[in-house]
Parts: sequence; structure tokens; C-alpha cells
Amino acid sequence: MKVFLDSIGCRLNQAEIESYAAQLRQAGHTLVAAPAEADLTIVNTCAVTAAAAADSRQKVRQAARAGSAQIVVTGCWATLQPEAAAALPGVSGVTLNARKDQLVSDLLQLVPPPDAPRADGLRAPIPGLRARTRAFIKVQDGCDNHCTFCITTVARGAGRSRPRDAITREVEAALASGAQEIVLTGVHLGAWGRDFDPPGHLYELVTHLLTRTAAPRLRLSSLEPWGLWPSPAAFFALWQEPRLCRHLHLPLQAGSAAVLRRMARQTTPARFAALVAAARNAIPGVAITTDLITGFPGETEAEFQAGREFVRQLELAGGHVFTYSPHPGTAAARLPAPVPAPVAKARRLDLQALLAASGARFARGFLGQTLPVLWEAAAARPPSGWTLSGWTDNYLRVQAAASWPNWNQVQPVRLEQLTPAGLIGVIQA
Ligand code: SF4
Repeated sequence: MKVFLDSIGCRLNQAEIESYAAQLRQAGHTLVAAPAEADLTIVNTCAVTAAAAADSRQKVRQAARAGSAQIVVTGCWATLQPEAAAALPGVSGVTLNARKDQLVSDLLQLVPPPDAPRADGLRAPIPGLRARTRAFIKVQDGCDNHCTFCITTVARGAGRSRPRDAITREVEAALASGAQEIVLTGVHLGAWGRDFDPPGHLYELVTHLLTRTAAPRLRLSSLEPWGLWPSPAAFFALWQEPRLCRHLHLPLQAGSAAVLRRMARQTTPARFAALVAAARNAIPGVAITTDLITGFPGETEAEFQAGREFVRQLELAGGHVFTYSPHPGTAAARLPAPVPAPVAKARRLDLQALLAASGARFARGFLGQTLPVLWEAAAARPPSGWTLSGWTDNYLRVQAAASWPNWNQVQPVRLEQLTPAGLIGVIQA
């Protein structure tokens, strides 16, 4: 069977689609680059914003227009709106998030379902999606917190962790396929193992993977800024191992203590600042990025300005800023005092500019240094040669000229110039 895989949204969706690809290949099926060639299209949808939900529907309609024989829809939007998903043109099935991990085995009627792909080169790039050098591995799903704005936890349910051995096998499979960087992902990655008896901790999983596998780079995706075990300082001591990428994405969501309380976040500005200080103390050169929401219900101008000043002082390496949009089924959707959309948008633009400026200052601090870069893309550069682009371990985007498209290789690059598109460097022999 020919299968087209499509995904939008978070790294967890990406990890899941990569896992589907490996399972389908393992069962002898072929992945194709376009829905027109496919007997089956699987679309992994997202609901984090209204735009993401609209994109999800658009992907399904595109597959139907292209003539894909069967379309199966899964993911957060399909779980929250299963009837709407089933009613889209060409949809032959909707798989809710609760059965998402069994989607391929259900479709192919595999008994028992595989818990991880074999370590024999099945994690090749997926046709039609951007060729990635990083392998996204889902280690955890769902969340037991109740942040009042969060639709993800409504869509994905309670926290549950994958067993360490299944994760290790999947990491080994990715490495056998040539992955240079492993990215561990989860809805609440820091909660990995808490549902085990006795409980496990992310600290132990990371230690295990660094010890038992030869991953050249291991990266942690988003980490909620609390509950790092055994303590933030001890957790950050993991980074004495240089294969662990010096990048922490710590979603703050708001810099105002009052807004954080209304969001029911398990942190305060003071605790967040202490966490950032502990990370910087333990991990020289660490890039710390964040997520922020503007226009949360009741956000006054004074609260916004207090939060903005807090974020400014943090001097972060970048981040994403979203305007709040209410999701039915969340507690925040019932809160009074909505912020007018133009105000929320102006605040978002302001914070985006703030983070862009501090991110540029962070990047500028590395000019003149030579850092290893993993090349993720190569574009032809007339009349001959290539422009490579990739990432340092501390998440600096770098471009360099090369005579060969060294995709998926790590090379030392001297960083020479900062442009709006990132750093420009020279590959060192
Ligand atoms: S901790 Fe993260 S995933 Fe969990 S409810 Fe809060 S925002 Fe959602």
C-alpha cells in the first residue's frame, strides 16, 4: 500500500508521524510524497490555535481533492471535533488520541502491536515532509496539570509515560538510520515516569540514554518550568555530558504573577528567574527560550507591563508569543474580562520584538567562536556550490557556503556575521 503522511503542530505530532512511518515501512508499505499517489493518507491534526485547526481541515481537504483513496484523521483537533472530522470530504476514519499510538496496528490489524520500530534503518526521511536530521521520539503523552488555558491536556488526557526500554529501542533505531540528533518529546516531558510504580524521573531516562546509546546529540524539547528532579541544580548537572544539547525551552506563558495565578501555572516570576539562573550557572552558553501568551482574560495594562519588564530582564534567547484564544472546554474560556483582540495583538507584537532583540544579542555573543553545526538543509548556490543551514547544539541557526551538500553532518563552523536570517559562518577544515 502507498501511504502519504501529513502532520501539523507540535514536536509530539512530528514524533508520532515518524513512528507511523517506521511502523508502516516495517510492515512493507511504501511512503509517498503526495496524496495523489496514495492509497491511504493519514493526517495528524492540531488544535492549539484556531489557525492550527483551520490548517488541519485544509490538509484533509487537500488530500481529498488530490484523490487519496482513503483518508484517516487523528490528533487533537480530530479528538475535540470528531464529528466535524468525520464529515470532511473523503474521510474514511477518525482515530481519537486515546487510540493514536495503536493507529497503524489497528489499520493493519497487527497483533500484538509493535512497541517500537526495529533498529534496522527504518527511520529514513519521510517523503513529502521536510527532510529532517533530527529524530523526534515521543517518551510521554498527556498531562495531570490543569493550566486554565490548555486545550492540549483536554485533547490528550492524563499523563502517561512510555517504558524506558521501548524508548531506548526507538532511539537505537533512529541512530541506526543515521540520525545525528535525538529529540525527546512529550506533552509534559519533565513528568516522564511519574505514573510508574515506583515512580521514575526524566533525570534517570536521560542518564540511561546517554550511557546506553551513542547518540551524538540528545536534545530535550519543551520542559515545564517546575518539578525538575531531584532539584533544578542537580538536574542541570546532566549537562556536564556535552552530548546533551545546551538548549532549554521553558514555557513561562506570562511574566505577571497575577496572570500566572489565573492561568494556574505551577510557577511564579521569582521561581522562574531562579530556574533560569540555575540553568545558566550550570550550563555555560545555554540558550533559554520560552512561550508567552498575550491577552489572557483580565490581563490589565499594568499586568502586561510588569510581565514585559520581567521578560526583558531575563534576556532570553528567543521564543514564541501567541495571542490568547478561548477554547471551549477549558476553564479560561469561562473567565470574565476578555482583552480586545487589537490590544492582545499589539502586546504580542511588542513581546515578539523584545524576544527577537534579546535573541539577537544572545547570538551576537557567539561571533568569533567555532561551534559544531548539524546541517539540516542544503540549497544549490549558483553557479556551483551549496548554501547549508543548520543548528548549533545551543539552537543558533547558522548558514555557510560549501562545495558539497553535507546534509546530516556535524561540522565545526566559525561564526562570523549576524544577519536577520541567523548567523553566517565558515566551515573549518
Ligand atoms: S503543564 Fe503544559 S500540558 Fe500540562 S496543562 Fe499546563 S500547559 Fe497544558
